[in-house]
Amino acid sequence: MKKIILANPRGFCAGVDRAITIVEKALEFYGSPVYVRHEVVHNKYVVDGLKNRGAIFIEEIKDVPEGAILIYSAHGVPLAVREEAEAKNLTMVFDATCPLVSKVHVELKNLYRNQYEIIMIGHKGHPEVEGTMGQVNGHIQLIENELDVDALPIASNAEKVAVVTQTTLSVDETKSIIDKLKVKYPNLRLPKNEDICYATQNRQDAVKKMATVCDAIIVIGSKNSSNSNRLKELAENLNVRSYLIDFDHEIQGEWLNDVDTIGLTAGASAPEVLVEGVIQKLQSYGFNAMENLNVVEEHMTFALPSELR
Ligand code: SF4
Repeated sequence: MKKIILANPRGFCAGVDRAITIVEKALEFYGSPVYVRHEVVHNKYVVDGLKNRGAIFIEEIKDVPEGAILIYSAHGVPLAVREEAEAKNLTMVFDATCPLVSKVHVELKNLYRNQYEIIMIGHKGHPEVEGTMGQVNGHIQLIENELDVDALPIASNAEKVAVVTQTTLSVDETKSIIDKLKVKYPNLRLPKNEDICYATQNRQDAVKKMATVCDAIIVIGSKNSSNSNRLKELAENLNVRSYLIDFDHEIQGEWLNDVDTIGLTAGASAPEVLVEGVIQKLQSYGFNAMENLNVVEEHMTFALPSELR
């Protein structure tokens, strides 16, 4: 019988859950509209749902009217954005930055204060990277891959050189980049605790296991979701066909022709309701058996701002 293997953990992480709840509670406590800088999390279904309830998503602070309620997305914001918002007469500003992203910001500011040359591993243009790099005024270089290590202009014998990373990277690729950095910079200072977050790590671990028993893997997540893209790439690197979809209606019958066992997971910003939709769709294609693949139980939660409790 054709079978679905369902990854656990999958879907919402604690940071996404908190960020969405902040927008929902702000709408409930203050009424609509509330302004959110950037998509609060990178998921089309979530963002469209919040838009329908009165959230207005903007990229530039100049588009927020005086007196408004403003929320920063889970990805974090550069200091310059906070300063621009502070200069306006806003009623309230809520910070939905994931505490695990804020942890990297604190670490980075300490390194900067201690006069380190800082290397950030991350994806150019991603809002988390812009937010993190924007915590300091220079002395930070972005690299995306191992090739970029060679081009870094920091001297190999630099005494104070440190690395930080985006939270949603490929665990394995990041390790290879850091290994190469360690060769070039013997004094390299590593993050005290991993910058890649627990949710990214756990979802990748589950895909690795699924890849050993599945003919194909479906990842539910939006195209701009970094951690979802990494799950798809990871499956492909393990030679398992993989598809990244927002909704069940995107599934094409031909994907499933020669598939007996299909793996199903969801990125950290994709809600469970979308997983349920995909399961139903797969059942309509004859995938009537289901098995859970449990990697670890997650119990992480993050507190809401006191004004919204
Ligand atoms: S993926 Fe990780 S860093 Fe991003 S919001 Fe979730 S817990 Fe926070």
